Amino acid sequence: MVEDDPFLADIYSQKLEKAGFNVGTETDGSKVLNAIKEQKPELLILDIVLPKLDGWEILEELNKDSKFAALKVMVFSNLGQKAEVEKGMKLGAVKYLIKSDYTPSEVVEEVKKLLK
Ligand SMILES: [Mg+2]
Repeated sequence: MVEDDPFLADIYSQKLEKAGFNVGTETDGSKVLNAIKEQKPELLILDIVLPKLDGWEILEELNKDSKFAALKVMVFSNLGQKAEVEKGMKLGAVKYLIKSDYTPSEVVEEVKKLLK
């Protein structure tokens, strides 16, 4: 999970761990690509507004490298304009959740659906 708000990162990673997932968190966008190479996650939960490298740039970087072809990306952002959601999907996200529309339990349900 990439989330620069440590409070949110904590809530969601704990909730996901309780549901049985192994969760790695990054708060700094520039560290994400290396962390993915090392940890090889099945799913990336990606915030968009991030320091240094934002979520859009991370999606673009992921698209450039075939190593990341199997990685599923779920955008999880407060950005909820139609154009932003479309941009996320166009850049390869399999799902785009707007933070304020989902409770932590609902986010866990979405993750389960994506990883079943
Ligand atoms: Mg953020």
